[in-house]
Amino acid sequence: MKKDLLNNKIFQMAVSQFDRTADFLELDQSVRERCKWPKRLITVTVPIQRDNGETEVFFGYRVQHHLSRGPVKGGLRFHPGVTLGEVAALAMWMNWKCALMDLPFGGGKGGITCDPRTLSAHETENLTRRFAMEILPFIGPETDVMAPDMGTNEQTMAWITDVYSTHAGHFVPGIVTGKPVELQGSEGRTQATGHGVAFLITRAFDKLNIKEQNATAIIQGFGNVGSHAAFTLSRYGVSITGISDITGAIWNEQGININELTKHVHQTGGVKDFPGAEFIDPDEMLLQPCDALVPAALERVINDKNAAQLQCRVLAEAANGPTTPLADAILESRDDIFLIPDVLCNAGGVTVSYLEWVQNIQRYQWSEQEILTKLETKLEAAFEKVIHFAERSQTSHRVAALSLGIEEVATAKSVRGLFP
Ligand code: GLU
Repeated sequence: MKKDLLNNKIFQMAVSQFDRTADFLELDQSVRERCKWPKRLITVTVPIQRDNGETEVFFGYRVQHHLSRGPVKGGLRFHPGVTLGEVAALAMWMNWKCALMDLPFGGGKGGITCDPRTLSAHETENLTRRFAMEILPFIGPETDVMAPDMGTNEQTMAWITDVYSTHAGHFVPGIVTGKPVELQGSEGRTQATGHGVAFLITRAFDKLNIKEQNATAIIQGFGNVGSHAAFTLSRYGVSITGISDITGAIWNEQGININELTKHVHQTGGVKDFPGAEFIDPDEMLLQPCDALVPAALERVINDKNAAQLQCRVLAEAANGPTTPLADAILESRDDIFLIPDVLCNAGGVTVSYLEWVQNIQRYQWSEQEILTKLETKLEAAFEKVIHFAERSQTSHRVAALSLGIEEVATAKSVRGLFP
């Protein structure tokens, strides 16, 4: 299994970041091994009947990285590229993210290898419900709490709540987060990740003396995270000059109108052919000068081929794992780019997920304003912690953020001791 996992490029990346940080922290060998490997790797087959009457079997995964500090927490992804190795890497990153944010969770992640764009609504519902059935013995509000991720949304979470609650014989809202508000989902959860990304960019601008009104941003990805980051940034006065998604990339030196673009995306399914902007090559877009570059889509998009050519002041990693270790080495040798590493940058989502879980357990409801204030307070504290750690230890923001997360988990494991 170790070998299989290590054959996956994304898992290798997560391990190489972990090893580097563990060396930096001089982690004790026993704790180091226990922190590195996932506790549970669950693979299930998910058979459903397609609309044409044929039966198709999909592969689904859930990786629970460690349960030493609480239930595992993390998203469920529907994407054709999902593999066990990718899910394991994402679960490992969720670990450090939750620990860095001081949330009482371990890291988890799940996924089904499928193309949600080719599934009908009925097929998607059946796939989700059957997956929930298959992993029912391994999940629960005290064990594993899922949330939306790429290709899934609050409706997906509503179906999982329904399956779990039906089997429990009573309503269990704490089984997932990112649910519809009607099912005791939290106000502010949908926009939380994008809002957090935009908020942290303004913190970085503050450090660099960049004024929002004079600033520009380029965003790769216009899904839930990218679109809400774009909205919030433009509300702060930042001009969004470039945006890309799976259909292509668009450019407007004067700033793209995000409200108009959103309407266009709802009508056509993508940013392509938006009348208020010109076409640009998606790879070229990443290399244009800007104050903030926001990769908000897939892994490994900032790599050794483009890292040296980036012209941004702030690199805000809204996606998980967008920067390869080789690119990291290049970015570290340049002191002109302020990195907001993924485990910090996109932590807004899981932070509001935590607040949702707390509300569910307490049967309580906070307002959107209360949620966003709590979110910003937590993000600001983690941001300052990372910056101070990096300055004090003369290390990169990535190593600083991972060190803070890994240390927390390592301490919990060593205090609990090795059983039996
Ligand atoms: N999928 C999101 C992430 O990668 C959120 C996870 C959650 O809210 O549990 O951070």
